[in-house]
Amino acid sequence: LEAKEEFSHKTLAMDVMRPRRTDPPLTVLTQDSMTVEDTESVISETTYSGYPVVVSRESQRLVGFVLRRDLIISIESARKKQDGIVSSSIIYFTDHSPPLPPSSPSALKLRNILDLSPFTVTDQTPMEIVVDIFRKLGLRQCLVTHNGKLLGIITKKDVLKHIAQMANQDPDSILFN
Ligand code: ADP
Repeated sequence: LEAKEEFSHKTLAMDVMRPRRTDPPLTVLTQDSMTVEDTESVISETTYSGYPVVVSRESQRLVGFVLRRDLIISIESARKKQDGIVSSSIIYFTDHSPPLPPSSPSALKLRNILDLSPFTVTDQTPMEIVVDIFRKLGLRQCLVTHNGKLLGIITKKDVLKHIAQMANQDPDSILFN
């Protein structure tokens, strides 16, 4: 039993999260510097269910999490119904619009679709605990941070794959039953 306990603590959130070391970086949105067009490109070039929103790419400070479907609906609706929203409009998730040059088109506020407190764990959190949190809280995804900076994401499917892998490697394990 002791050996298994050790084993169970060996896999950490950082071993299961995406991106993997060799993958392209996490796809994120910035809180107040991307245009409608930039955001539409992200939506069409990726299929993820959601995107973390960060203060800036340099800081990688997490602001919240936005679901892909909410983004699509809100942008589509704003393009149709909201005066002055065009491809070059800035999208902002902050309380107030960022300062923009006088000639800029209207900015699009999307704070209402932002989850301001997405669940996060640090990269050193044992997967045993992550699995438990997913089960108990019924999470769909969880963000991974290190020293307050966003590092990665773990989805429910990632957790299920991890559990299946563990079961294969160690069929006698009772940990995940
Ligand atoms: P699912 O895991 O249910 O297929 P997604 O389509 O959102 O859900 O994610 C597919 C894979 O991409 C998962 O392994 C997940 O960890 C990863 N992923 C999810 N969102 C992002 C993102 N914004 N940037 C990079 N990778 C992501």
